[in-house]
Parts: sequence; C-alpha cells; structure tokens
Amino acid sequence: MTQNVVAAVRTGPSKTEFQEFPTPEIGADSALLKMEVAGICGTDVKFYKTPPTTRPVIMGHENIGIIAKAGREFTKRKGFKEGDLVFVEHYVMCGKCEWCHKGEYRLCEATDWRSNPDGIRYGYTPTDRAPHLWGGFAQYAYLPWNSVLHHVPKGMSAERAGLVTPMANGVEWSLFDGGVGYQSRVLIQGPGQQGLSQTVVCKQAGAALVIVTGTSKDAKRLEVAKALGADHVIDVDKENPLERIHQITGGEGVDVVLDCTAGAGTTPVLLGVEAMKRKGGLMVVQGEMAEFPNYPIGKIAVKYITMKSARGHSYRACEMALQQLASKNFDFGLVTTHKFGLKDVDLAIKSVGNQEGGLKGVIHASLLPWE
Ligand SMILES: [Zn+2]
Ligand SMILES: [Zn+2]
Repeated sequence: MTQNVVAAVRTGPSKTEFQEFPTPEIGADSALLKMEVAGICGTDVKFYKTPPTTRPVIMGHENIGIIAKAGREFTKRKGFKEGDLVFVEHYVMCGKCEWCHKGEYRLCEATDWRSNPDGIRYGYTPTDRAPHLWGGFAQYAYLPWNSVLHHVPKGMSAERAGLVTPMANGVEWSLFDGGVGYQSRVLIQGPGQQGLSQTVVCKQAGAALVIVTGTSKDAKRLEVAKALGADHVIDVDKENPLERIHQITGGEGVDVVLDCTAGAGTTPVLLGVEAMKRKGGLMVVQGEMAEFPNYPIGKIAVKYITMKSARGHSYRACEMALQQLASKNFDFGLVTTHKFGLKDVDLAIKSVGNQEGGLKGVIHASLLPWE
C-alpha cells in the first residue's frame, strides 16, 4: 500500500489540484476502500462549476471499489470483508433515526449537507475534515462504521456497477415515487444517463409508452434512448413537444412525467403540466430554481396533479438497480461510453456536461483513480 493517497481536489470553481493525503489509520470499526470506478453525473457538472462551499473537496459520490483493509468490528457488524467489490452510497448515515431504520439514508440529518454543516457525504465533505478521504476522485476512500455498502453482484465489472447510482435513482423516481408500472404512459425529459436509466426501469416495469425529450445537442443520446426501448424521442429544438405528445397519445396525455433535465429552468415543469392526462397524473421534479415565477398552481390543482421531488435513492432502490444491471435485458454498453484517468478529471466533468472544452458523445463517464 502506498504511503500517501493521491486525490483530485476541487479547490475553486472549475479548479482541480492534485494533492496527497496520508493513508488513514484503520481501526476496528472502519475500513479502507481502494477505488476502482467513480461515476460522474450531472450533479458533479453543476457543483464543479459552482461549488456549494469554498472549502476544498474531493468530489466523486458514485463510488465502486474493493475493500483493501477492514477492521474486525466493521466486518462483523456489516458483513463486508477485505477483497469484496462494493458500491458505497454517498450518504453516511446516523443509524439511529427513523429514516435510517427505513433504509432511506438520503433523508437522514447526519448526511444532509444542505441543512447540517457537519453532515458527511462522499463527494461533498471537505478535505479539512479528518481523515480527509471523503470522495471517489482519489486512490482510496475512508469507510467509517456508518457508511452504507452494497455487494456488487458476482461477475459484474466495476465499470458496469458504476451505473448503479443513476439506475437506483431510476428505480426510486419512476417506480417508488412515480408509481410507473404495467401500461403506464411516461414522459421522460432529458436523455442523459439519468433519463436513460429511467427509460430502462420504465420499460422493465411494463410501461406501455415511453417518450423521451432532448435538445439537438442530445442527438446521440436520443438514439441511445430508442435503442434502450423508448417508443418515441422528441428533439425539442426541432419539434413542438406538446403537439407531438398529443399526437402520440391521441390527445390523452401521459400518466407520469419525470424531469431529468439540468439547467432547463421552468420549462420541464410547464411542459409536464400541459402533457399530463386530463385528471390525476404525477410529476417528479428537480426543483433546481430558487423561484418559479408564474407557477401554474391553478392548472395543477384543476388537473389534480401530484408533484414529488426527485431526491436520490433508498437502500432497496440500490439493490434493485444492481439486479437490473446484472440482467442481460438491456445493452448498458451504450451508456458507459467513456473512461478517464484521475489526471483528466476536469476534462471528464466537462465532457459529461456537454460543455465547452469537453469531448463529444459522452453519456456516462467512469473515472479510474489509478490511471
Ligand atoms: Zn450523482
Ligand atoms: Zn439517520
């Protein structure tokens, strides 16, 4: 084992520095994770550009790795031993509250960085907090007793397992929150790795109709959406999406709307309200904006629409996502398009964000911290 751990540290907006940290002491109730793959998602794109803190942070919250060292208590308590390939949720739970007992770690106060400045979460907790290794863009990560782990199914590559976070969100938002099931008609807005994961989950659940929207920049991603089972794709730069949806559904509209856009402002909600069936229906929204001028509350009430907030994934959603990824029903190779070494983290994030200076055609990127 190396003496020092190399990490990519975000030190400011769109700024990365490579720093070394001492390998942490591993006591009886902790473990050390040798990172294999850190997935990069839209949240990384957003928080790399506009960090929520000025303190230095090792990003990387979708982490797959091998347990390099595990304390006796850790293995006894959690059932994970040295050599196991694991997925680590980014939530670090308290283990005592109502949410933790339900496996809804994302709602635990101990990991909520927004409301609790001491909250611990992989990819968000600053490096000034000992033992420093709280992110996946590093050779190793520290696992306290209250980290939340899953076994990666036998035979699954770390890169494939790296899709588990968007897929778990797919399960959580479309099935658990959205109630998508047999014969559902679904509108998925945004064909990034998140929208594509929702597509897979909705098809697997028996949805009768899946419509995916994107922009002209998303041409390749919309093709992949079709290959993964979307019944229709709409380029909103070229076509009027509402007209198309009405045409496709014979004027009836859809049952469920899933917002998987980033930085699209109020547009996805406004389209969703219009595209929804005459009465009932449910929207899962991102709610990225601080304010929503002219929010159509009257129309939402009259159409009897239920709104829910997209908010990560539960333990059960992760387990179901891993099972989905282990299945051969979908060609996930279409989604895991790119791999980057640690030194190219800046390029990797910009590429996932479809931004200036990034590579084209990237859907899901795996960051490999040892390359
Ligand atoms: Zn993410
Ligand atoms: Zn808790």
